[in-house]
This record gives sequence, structure tokens and C-alpha cells, in this order.
Amino acid sequence: MVRSLLIANRGEIALRIQRAARSLGLATIAVHSEADRDARHVALADKAVCIGPAPAARSYLDPAAILLAAEATGADAVHPGYGFLSENADFAESCAAAGLVFVGPDAQAIRIMGDKVAAKRAMRRAGVPCVPGPDTGLPDDPDAVRRVAAEIGYPVILKAAGGGGGRGMRVVDGEAGLLDALALTREEARRAFGNPEIYVEKFLTRPRHVEIQVLADRHGNALWLGSRDCSLQRRHQKVLEEAPAPGLDPALVAEVGERCTQACRQIGYVGAGTFEFLYEDGVFSFIEMNTRVQVEHPITEETSGIDIVREGIRVALGHPLTIRQDEIVARGHAFECRINAEDPETFRPSPGWVTRFDMPGGPGIRVDTHMVPGARVPPYYDSLIAKIIAHGPTREEALMRLRIALSEARVEGVATNLPLHRRIVDDPGFCAGGVDIHHLEKLLKGGDHA
Ligand code: ADP
Repeated sequence: MVRSLLIANRGEIALRIQRAARSLGLATIAVHSEADRDARHVALADKAVCIGPAPAARSYLDPAAILLAAEATGADAVHPGYGFLSENADFAESCAAAGLVFVGPDAQAIRIMGDKVAAKRAMRRAGVPCVPGPDTGLPDDPDAVRRVAAEIGYPVILKAAGGGGGRGMRVVDGEAGLLDALALTREEARRAFGNPEIYVEKFLTRPRHVEIQVLADRHGNALWLGSRDCSLQRRHQKVLEEAPAPGLDPALVAEVGERCTQACRQIGYVGAGTFEFLYEDGVFSFIEMNTRVQVEHPITEETSGIDIVREGIRVALGHPLTIRQDEIVARGHAFECRINAEDPETFRPSPGWVTRFDMPGGPGIRVDTHMVPGARVPPYYDSLIAKIIAHGPTREEALMRLRIALSEARVEGVATNLPLHRRIVDDPGFCAGGVDIHHLEKLLKGGDHA
């Protein structure tokens, strides 16, 4: 019998998980670093435990500290949220070994998806379309490497099997630079990820980032909940997302969605997850799967009407999904702006005390935040302070609501990227829909900083 859930995270997602747990009648246990003593999710939790000093490596990233807190508080389950230990297979395994329900897939699924070559192989096998290129690592033989790259056709991208966070990748334009690039990437991968395996695939020059949200239970049921477009990125970091991805053929999206659910069943995936694709010229190409809840999950909650976080906990507890695929209807359009405490010009984090924090409201507006006036943004963690989500019956109406919401928002004490978001929602390319992953960086380079 599961009665309590320990939330191994902080910030807005800790609060979001706490709300979902409460809706299921679970007692909530917060763990926090010394820097988060006064955080909102800590104050609102049924129990709270300090697990260490401010640096994440000694608190939120310390599995032993979290497991000890779980034991001390008699927790029955652990939710890792996103970031921190959420995609750490060893941690999932340790939770299970300690008799705790881990809210997420089992360690085996996390391990497969954490190795990009293994993930690509598993996806191909399940019929999920992948970027052209072999689903095995590159050999050492230079002639064989040249042959593989030539077969794909330049430009190609070399990627570390163990890579993540946008690191361990190198684009190669022609055969002349191939072997040097491979040696460099291999050495970097060995040092950064402890895994020298490199694979190669076609480099797509102007793709969109389109992803599919899935939800799967322990009883062989898997659902896809629609698409999201997360092409607006800076340095591979998502800035503003929307659901569904605009301008795509619904039949194609449904076909890819079905393949994703098939893959879930094939690998025994349980929980909320996301299949990330590059989309170019009408073709979806799988790049990776995130085996956890994502920052941008709310836009899919708005457009599908499904509480993804609550369902994620339910399926972890062994309950079957109660919704069928044919009962999921797309309800309008939604956007999410990630509001970060950062300088809008230099993008440098801007920690400090928040003196004013006015968030928008009105029809279709949702704000997921852990901030209140007088709260502190510590310098140790991610700078996300709020997510402003706008939902409407059509893309145009959702966008209009978003514009009004952004005009109402006021944050003082720390700098934020609100000016950047206000600029994006007036950008003609973005308003038209369907921009590629380079659009935001081009917009930023275009001078005329608002
Ligand atoms: P990570 O796990 O480090 O985030 P991904 O495989 O998700 O790595 O790739 C990160 C980003 O790198 C993608 O969002 C895309 O911008 C770029 N990228 C990756 N593979 C390709 C490719 N084959 N062609 C073009 N861009 C790519």
C-alpha cells in the first residue's frame, strides 16, 4: 500500500508533483538543500527533510542522501521529476532495491534510452523512423568509416553514444575533415562521458524539433497524447514550446504516434515519456527519448485534458490507464514560455531576491511557478522561475492570450527573459508557425534588440 511520495526535486516541478500526489490522496515528502529551506514546496509538504548543502552534487544529485531521507520519513515512493536523478538508471535501481516505488520506467528502459546507439536500434526495431545512418557504433578502420559516411552522404554528424545536454556532437561537411573530427569527438566522449563509442548520421540542415508525449502502464497499454513543437531554442535549450506542432499532416503525426506507443510496449516502458524527433521536408526522424516528465508537459495537458503528472504516478503504482487512444481528442492549441531569471541580453543567470512577482491570469492562462514576492532565486540551480502557459480554441486565440499574459507579467529584483518572449510572440516567422531550430538564434543575431 503506497501512502506517501517523496519528491526528489525542487522548484516548480516539485510543487507540480506535490499537487498531483495530493489529488491521489498521497502524503507528500519534500527533500531540500540548505539553500531551499524557505521554498514553497517545502512549506506546503506534509514532511520535509534537509538533505545537504546548496550545491546540487551534495543534495539533489546525492542518491544516498535521498534514500536516507526516504527511509527516515517512511516514504513508499519516489518521484524524480526532471533533471537531477530523473534519468539515472542506478538511482531507479537503488529505489527498487530499497523497496520504494520509482515513478518512472524501470532501470533497464532508462539504460537503453540513455545509450543513443542502443536507443536508435530499439526504435528502428519498433518501426520508429530514425535519422539515416547505422544503429551501431563506428569501427576503428578508417576505410570503413569513410565508406559509412559516404553512404549516408555529407554533411553528416558524429555523435557520442553516451552524450547528452547537446554535448559530444560534431558536424562534418566532407570527407577531408572526417577522420580528424572522429578522433576529436571520440577523445571528448571518452573524457566527458566515459564512453568512446561514436556513431554517425545524416546532418539535417534546417529541421524542426517535434516531439510526441507518451504515457504507458504496466499492463501493456500505451497512449500518445499529441505532438509538441520545441523548435525555438537557444544553444539547444528550449525557450518557448507549443502543442500541437503547427502545419503538420495529422495522419502522419498519428502514424508516428502509433509507432511510439508500439515502441513503448516493445521495450516495456512504464510512465510518462517523450520521443524527440527532427522533422524536415515532411519526414520524422527520431533523435532521442526522454524517460521522464518534461518541462513542457503542461501544453499537452491543456490540449489533451489529461493530467500527465497524476497519470504518471498512477501507472507507477500499478494502476492501469483508464483512457483509450480513441478517447483522446485534441482540444485547441497551447503555448508555454519558460521564464528564466537571466539577463535578457547576455543570458547570464540573474539570481537574487524577487521583490515583485505579478503573474497573469484570465481565460486559458496557467502559470506553473514556485516563486512569490520576497522569494530568493538561488545561484546554484536552473534559472527557470515560472512557466506561463496559454491555451485557446485555435493557435491564433492562444497566441493572443499569450501576448496579453506576457504584457501583464512583472518581475522585479531579478532580471528575466520576459522581453525576449514578448519579442518572439510578435515575430512574423513565429506567428506564421513552423520555424526551424535555427530561427531563434537568427532572430537574436538580427540586431534590433528589443
Ligand atoms: P542531446 O541528448 O545532447 O540533447 P540530441 O540527440 O537530442 O542530443 O541532439 C541535440 C540537438 O542537436 C538536436 O535538438 C539538434 O538541434 C541537433 N542534432 C542532433 N542530431 C542531429 C542531426 N542528425 N541533424 C541535425 N541536427 C541534429
